[in-house]
Amino acid sequence: MVHWIEGQTGLWEIVIGLEIHAQVTSRAKLFSGAATSFGRAPNTQVALFDAAFPGMLPVINAKCIEQAVRTGLGLNAHINKYSVFARKNYFYADLPAGYQISQHELPIVGPGLVAIDLSDGTSRTIRIERLHLEQDAGKSLHDRHPTLSFIDLNRAGVALMEIVSQPDMHSSEEAAAYVRKLRSILRYLGSCDGNMQEGSLRCDVNVSVRRPDEGFRTRCEIKNINSVRFMIQAIEYEAHRHVRVYESGGRIEQETRLFEASSGKTRAMRSKEMVHDYRYFPDPDLPPLTLDDAFIEDIRTSLPELPDQKKSRFINIYGLPAYAAGILVEDRETAEYYETVAKGRDPKTVANWVMTSLFGALHRSGREISDSPISADHLGQLIDLIGDGTISSHIAKSVFESMLETGQEPLAIVTAKGLKQVTDSKVIEQAIDAVMRRHPDKVALYRGGQVKLLGWFIGQVMKATDGKANPTKLSTLLKERLTES
Ligand code: ADP
Ligand code: MG
Repeated sequence: MVHWIEGQTGLWEIVIGLEIHAQVTSRAKLFSGAATSFGRAPNTQVALFDAAFPGMLPVINAKCIEQAVRTGLGLNAHINKYSVFARKNYFYADLPAGYQISQHELPIVGPGLVAIDLSDGTSRTIRIERLHLEQDAGKSLHDRHPTLSFIDLNRAGVALMEIVSQPDMHSSEEAAAYVRKLRSILRYLGSCDGNMQEGSLRCDVNVSVRRPDEGFRTRCEIKNINSVRFMIQAIEYEAHRHVRVYESGGRIEQETRLFEASSGKTRAMRSKEMVHDYRYFPDPDLPPLTLDDAFIEDIRTSLPELPDQKKSRFINIYGLPAYAAGILVEDRETAEYYETVAKGRDPKTVANWVMTSLFGALHRSGREISDSPISADHLGQLIDLIGDGTISSHIAKSVFESMLETGQEPLAIVTAKGLKQVTDSKVIEQAIDAVMRRHPDKVALYRGGQVKLLGWFIGQVMKATDGKANPTKLSTLLKERLTES
């Protein structure tokens, strides 16, 4: 990931600011009672208000207000007790009213902060400029008919939170970390499901470049990116395009662009409209929104433990490194799974099993931790079987594989397959003797000073016992036997 772009005429810094549209988790729309479920038949979730029938009036959905305040508090942001809904006028076929109700000069949430962790172990704070509530538009369907387009108004009027960052990010990695962190916070709060594939979380990415220590240059806005991977590609492409243009003596115009996944490139969509083009004015059908302290404080006291707090707790209570703690708290389910297993067990051993074996297996099978084939209880039992010497950690790996396949509890697998560790000295000694009898030449070499052969002997005896000999006991007994003459 680049931080600085090395052009032909010197270094360039990338500057990135993100506008994220997060669909509010609510059963009804922002100003109507129509349902919001994803994937329903077109135009089955549309109130007369959403279709802009004359004379229909908006009625604010209190749940959406609560979710916006909850999100503001989760982003360490200032809550504005007085905010105003405005009409943002533009024409588009999927916007029947000819305007979108949004918040313009006075949004419900003001400045806030989000901490991000980067792969080099450092952390940064990204400033949030504002969060405002607005309506989503409908959807135009262009692929159903050769010459006609269709309109689906199911999404029209669904509540969105637009979360605008300051231009504080300077690499695609930082932007990716920011989106992931924001998504994690929204999911903890339950104010947005964060599902980018379904469009519940969409990013507009603003990119510019500048010389070190120079003021900001013109930005281009890449609209509606719905995956973190595409966002990274779009930023890389766009920033390099700016450098190419500047270095060949050209100018960057402020414009709105589209990212094309097939080519990995961005292309111009339209020149950027200016704020005054929208003719914003306060919506005469909606009084200003006023919140009282009790409403805000009630929400504050109902906030769950958020990722940053949980991370600090994992570091303090379990002694985990910051990196591991950060990964384990990314989603609530993983954190809960970890804590269930870690209860009464060595926290670092547990973190290791969860982050390497379990995550690996989930990743291979494309599953989420919520439908892990291995329950937290079963993983705990497996770790206990190693701890009490029933199986070696080597054998535990293969028990883990069987647990993945069968969902059985570990002890049942160990018993059925006869995998219990052999700790009986007599049995181990017999195996040692058999190996020594078969390889008198190697015994002679060892006794002649080639002590490195010990590893080879351990391997042979392990093989002879199907890997079940207790490793510590085996090594002690073997040394004794080999040095006796
Ligand atoms: P608009 O709706 O016109 O795009 P907003 O204020 O909603 O304007 O969003 C502007 C976004 O662009 C913010 O996220 C801001 O951080 C970002 N931004 C502003 N200036 C620059 C710049 N020079 N380079 C990159 N991003 C920028
Ligand atoms: Mg914008």
